[in-house]
Amino acid sequence: MALVRRARRINRILAETYPDAHCELDFTNAFQLLVATILSAQTTDKRVNLVTPALFAKYPTAADLAAANPEDVESIIQSTGFFRAKTKSIMGMAQALVERYSGEVPGKLKDLVTLPGVGRKTANVVLGNAFGVPGITVDTHFQRLSRRFGWTTETDPVKIEHEVGALIEKREWTDMSQRLIWHGRRRCHSRRPACGACPVAPLCPSFGEGPTDEKTASKLVRSAAEALDTQ
Ligand code: SF4
Repeated sequence: MALVRRARRINRILAETYPDAHCELDFTNAFQLLVATILSAQTTDKRVNLVTPALFAKYPTAADLAAANPEDVESIIQSTGFFRAKTKSIMGMAQALVERYSGEVPGKLKDLVTLPGVGRKTANVVLGNAFGVPGITVDTHFQRLSRRFGWTTETDPVKIEHEVGALIEKREWTDMSQRLIWHGRRRCHSRRPACGACPVAPLCPSFGEGPTDEKTASKLVRSAAEALDTQ
């Protein structure tokens, strides 16, 4: 089957399997999502969601966070790990928003990536989930799955983004990214993917990387709660 057709069919199956796939970080606006995404590096969304209510209650705007006491911010976000570097990033980002964008999060990739601590992946998360601008989020799950699906052989995230972007309809990019992340967290694990309990198995060139026996594979499938606790 031609690559584009197979890729779109896999995306459709994942859409049926995970109809409510969404960004699992809690947020109510673009600023909160930007902060939460920076905090999510090297930790789980669940852990980030535990600290952000206190952080946003105390520092609801970019101006508030820009003027915060760094030690206070460090103590609030400590459990997310790398808390000194993350404090520097989120405060530096907030200061840049105040200085350059009147405290508002810009809605363009080219502007977002100029903010401290904000790379292409974070920018695409924010564009897709807070601005409704289609974006491909190439995180560790997306990289692994897009290679397993045979959608790319690249290892560079920007090249992967462009190659997958050429296969999948643009309007699907944000949801498709979330579906791959959900599939990676629930079934297509880095070690021992649950191939025997995978709905895209008939279309996947990597079928067999994990157990193909249904009973064994089913035990590897993670529940929604377990997945939220997975990086
Ligand atoms: S068949 Fe296996 S490798 Fe392919 S997507 Fe499913 S779990 Fe992942």
